[in-house]
Amino acid sequence: MRHINQVLVVGAGPTGLAAACALSFYGIHCRIVERRTKPCELSRAVGIFPCTIRRLLKVGVPDILTSEAMKLCKVEYLQAGRPLLFLDNRGDAYKEYVGFGLPQNRTEEILREFLLEQGVSVEYGVAAVEVDPGDRGVTVVLSDGSVEDFDWLIAADGVHSTVREQLGIPFPGEDLPQPWGVADIDIDEGCDSDLISVDIQRPGNQFTIVLPIGRQRVRVVAPQPDALEALGQPLKVREIRRSGSFQISIRQAESYRFRRVLLAGDAAHCHSPVGGKGMNLGIADAIAAVETIVTGRVDSYSTERHKIGAATIRKTEVARRIITSNSSISKGCVRTLAKLIATFPVVRQAYIQNLTRL
Ligand SMILES: Cc1cc2nc3c(=O)[nH]c(=O)nc-3n(C[C@H](O)[C@H](O)[C@H](O)COP(=O)(O)OP(=O)(O)OC[C@H]3O[C@@H](n4cnc5c(N)ncnc54)[C@H](O)[C@@H]3O)c2cc1C
Repeated sequence: MRHINQVLVVGAGPTGLAAACALSFYGIHCRIVERRTKPCELSRAVGIFPCTIRRLLKVGVPDILTSEAMKLCKVEYLQAGRPLLFLDNRGDAYKEYVGFGLPQNRTEEILREFLLEQGVSVEYGVAAVEVDPGDRGVTVVLSDGSVEDFDWLIAADGVHSTVREQLGIPFPGEDLPQPWGVADIDIDEGCDSDLISVDIQRPGNQFTIVLPIGRQRVRVVAPQPDALEALGQPLKVREIRRSGSFQISIRQAESYRFRRVLLAGDAAHCHSPVGGKGMNLGIADAIAAVETIVTGRVDSYSTERHKIGAATIRKTEVARRIITSNSSISKGCVRTLAKLIATFPVVRQAYIQNLTRL
């Protein structure tokens, strides 16, 4: 391993935290700065893939994630309210591919606790303000007025990345005009705690996803500002924990590297939450970034991660367009695919692997 004095991680979302965990695991001194003054209490992502847990285990993060998370073994697809496909993935054949549900803020907390055990704490209320990358290191002006030199910088500062903008790395793509809604609710009954319910191709290009995030708590997502209003079959709501809307952008940075700065996570790519891949992809970027720094293979980082990011965006977009499309061709294709998945175990296996593999 080459000698590295210090790496700066900008941003303490899941990507930045995973990067700092990996750096600590490899014995590299790091600092992690976060513009917020305290951890974010809201959860965006709820789905964690087994491959993400394996990646985190490899860099020493203990397996608390699987013991706490909800195992999302069953998926039902409805087409405009009518049953289309039901998959019960509890068997051994699917063990490696079944996703887990855990609120993002809890995942972040687990990563922060691991980091603390390694002697690293997130520096809250400190932002990277200016970044000047050279051939041998990076000089950074922080919001507390200090100017520091680092060997490498990992920019995990989210979709509006200051670092990416400072370096002038283009972030081409589009912003969807329609806001989407998300609601986390406690329900009285009728919640199968391992069932994801996806109702697609409803009139008006609508769909809803209902997925368990606790014993009697579900997350509802829909492509309209009020997610609950979009529900075909109303749930018995006990308490609305959170309800809001968000805007979707589909963008990817042209390059994930500029000299000694590596972009990772939403700073490098963003897309719709269909398929729940964003955080998983960010954590994979983070660990790959650290491993390329450690092994001196950093030249390959941008090309390799850009290719994986582009493929993920492509698949996510195909899925988003299909599930929101009301065209008869699209509906016919979906019904045929559902039949193939239900009839042929090999198609079903390939489909399930694709859902949670990156
Ligand atoms: C409704 C919704 C549901 C989703 N569901 C899923 C899901 O189920 N599974 C999944 O994998 N993904 C999901 N995603 C996507 C996922 O939430 C994001 O991909 C993930 O949060 C990206 O993590 P990140 O660490 O790269 O960026 P962020 O989480 O945005 O973190 C970036 C951090 O950097 C900080 N920062 C910014 N600028 C600076 C600066 N200059 N200096 C210091 N700090 C700075 C910010 O304050 C922030 O804390 C969902 C998204 C949404 C909106």
